[in-house]
Amino acid sequence: MNTIARLPQPETIKVSALHAYAYCPRLFYLEEVEALYTQDAAVFAGRKLHEELEEQEDGTWEDLFLESVDLGLRGRVDALRHRDGQVIPYEHKRGRCYRDEQKQPQVWESDRLQVLAYAYLLEMALGVTIQEGRVRYHADNVLVHVPLDDAARAWVREMIDRARTLRNSTHRPPVTDNERLCTRCSLAPVCLPEEARLAHDKEWQPVRLFPEDDDRIVLHVLEPGTRVGRTGEQIKVLRCGEKKAEVIPARQVGQIVLHSFSQISTQALHFCSDQEIGVHLVSGGGRYLGSFDSRQGSIQRRIAQYGALVQPEVCLGLARQLVVCRGRSQRKFLMRGCRGRVVPELTAAIAQMKAVLKQVGKAESLGSLLGLEGNLAATYFGVFDRLLKDVAAELRFDGRNVGLRRIE
Ligand code: SF4
Repeated sequence: MNTIARLPQPETIKVSALHAYAYCPRLFYLEEVEALYTQDAAVFAGRKLHEELEEQEDGTWEDLFLESVDLGLRGRVDALRHRDGQVIPYEHKRGRCYRDEQKQPQVWESDRLQVLAYAYLLEMALGVTIQEGRVRYHADNVLVHVPLDDAARAWVREMIDRARTLRNSTHRPPVTDNERLCTRCSLAPVCLPEEARLAHDKEWQPVRLFPEDDDRIVLHVLEPGTRVGRTGEQIKVLRCGEKKAEVIPARQVGQIVLHSFSQISTQALHFCSDQEIGVHLVSGGGRYLGSFDSRQGSIQRRIAQYGALVQPEVCLGLARQLVVCRGRSQRKFLMRGCRGRVVPELTAAIAQMKAVLKQVGKAESLGSLLGLEGNLAATYFGVFDRLLKDVAAELRFDGRNVGLRRIE
């Protein structure tokens, strides 16, 4: 076993990340910049294949971690073999190879880049000449040779440069034009490519990608005094006054919601943080208090939100919608109050609110919008007491007020 291990430096890019970049730049960005990873059945099947290969070869496979700061690359080579005095890196793929127009077996573009990157990395790190890399596709039992020449080396360097540039960008790339890539992409459940396409093209007919649901449970701790702790890889829940705790395997838990005055230990919090289990606090009355959540938030969404909110026309558009929604629901409330009876004040207010609501969509400044909003509110609250039947005069509203008024 020949193992060279060095601590990776942040400037270098993983070969696997370069493979992701060649597959789809958005995939690279989601994983490398936003640190969003998901593991679907294909990812686990790929790992299993490598484990089986290692077992079959009984230790003859070399586990070699390499890094070249000059090249800007690091990675762990799947396997190395010596053939006719040459060192040849191998990549193993679970799926099928690509077939060209003559039905000849070829490597997929991202696999080509990956095996060439490993070959070039070997050259740079070990100072030996590598003539080719090989990719074995296990589903159709095909071995494809990929020569490493100057053009291939230049291509690897160019792709490293492009990936580095994207890594420093704050803009998530758009979804790929090749929708077929998305059907096999493990990040589809967080990338939401079909939703993004629909957002840009209202005529788009989305394909359902069937993302797997997170079927981990949400653990609600309702009883005050209940203590949540950790024991090994399990979450421990001990009810107040009981001696025996209930234990739940951590992998089955996605979120813990602590209601009222239940407690959680520091060790359990550390563990939840490590396992990406969100912990949320809710008051006894059901009010949300806060969260302790180490999962990656949607940074890109927030950047887009802040970017939009500094644009006055976006703010005005949102404010118009708020005023319209509120005004419409208040007007509807007054209309319900007219059911089965005639109340002239309510009828007049409903008609006036309708007229004002028509103007809201045309408001050209926040100032004029505020005036219209005030008009709607004054009309609504001006007749609000007419919604109540048979109320004593002293209980009728004479304006908006805060808190309770004592009635002698
Ligand atoms: S789902 Fe599609 S667009 Fe999104 S990262 Fe994967 S391949 Fe790219």
